[in-house]
Amino acid sequence: MDLNEVKFNLEKRGFKVSLFENGKEVVSYLNKEIDNTTVGIGGSVTVKELGLFDELKTHNTVWWHNDNKQALEYGVYAIRCNAANTDIYISSVNAMSKDGIMINLDATGNRIASTVWGHKKCYYIIGVNKIEDDFEKAYNHVKNISAPRNAKRLNLKTPCAVKGDKCYNCNCEAKICRTFMIYEAPSKGQDIEIIIVNQTLGY
Ligand code: SF4
Repeated sequence: MDLNEVKFNLEKRGFKVSLFENGKEVVSYLNKEIDNTTVGIGGSVTVKELGLFDELKTHNTVWWHNDNKQALEYGVYAIRCNAANTDIYISSVNAMSKDGIMINLDATGNRIASTVWGHKKCYYIIGVNKIEDDFEKAYNHVKNISAPRNAKRLNLKTPCAVKGDKCYNCNCEAKICRTFMIYEAPSKGQDIEIIIVNQTLGY
């Protein structure tokens, strides 16, 4: 995958883009960029793997429902509400095409809402493993890799959670595939920076 080509394609769409070789560089960069402010983080294995919450919370007010300690103290709903009212928002996307179209899938919708409106600046952190050749492959990635593996990780009662192998087109109560967002360009007036990492992060 030519990451400079991906960067060029995203920039053509109006996104700011930063490229990094590994997660360590990303954490170091964001630790400098995000200081003494309020930060919300969406549900993200990528952010967890980077250890970003623990770094940022030492010099910012950070809300993240995936942090077990914070979830126990405040409750997931309250944290999601607080995260929606921060200056900075951090998320990943589930997949993207190399021509720069990104896709997110949400069960609750908090992450999708925050990535398109309401924050001074959003960062989307994307590992190279999530970049596909075209939109069809990116959509397939979301449905047959991201969603089943997330359902398995969260121990949901969905058919895909048993093996985490593929989508079984369910309509069960625990269904994780509820709202899709396709990002073709930044929302008007939104400051969005895409951080591409030449490392496998999340799924
Ligand atoms: S539609 Fe159902 S089976 Fe398919 S990935 Fe989503 S939750 Fe899993």
